[in-house]
Amino acid sequence: MPLYDYFCPNDECVHHEEPIEKMHNISQTPKFRCSECNAILERGISDIGVKNPSKAKQHVANLKRGAEYSTPAKMIPNYEGEEAKTWEDAKELARKMGTTDESTGKKRNLTEQELATFDVKIKEEKKEKVK
Ligand SMILES: [Zn+2]
Repeated sequence: MPLYDYFCPNDECVHHEEPIEKMHNISQTPKFRCSECNAILERGISDIGVKNPSKAKQHVANLKRGAEYSTPAKMIPNYEGEEAKTWEDAKELARKMGTTDESTGKKRNLTEQELATFDVKIKEEKKEKVK
């Protein structure tokens, strides 16, 4: 029998965020009561997805409102804090500026491998321009 995560709908209860694992048949929808506050537990939405019912509710509420999800803050192309127009420029900047070697404290040029880390950003940048 599979294990399910159940959550307490009571905001104040420890089991609101800490799931209680219950085992039952997949075809059953039994009701369980919270051992702390005796409220009827809500089943977690899915194993992969949202485990916290309050977050799950919020998620649904947000969708209904048509709220746009805040995308992770876009990184401004830069090299060690020097801003550049594009990641391609940032790579050039990196090539010119080099870096300070952590072990010796001396300036050195970036290796091709290190420069290649910019390529991922450059690729993303190009993809966005196509849109
Ligand atoms: Zn509870």
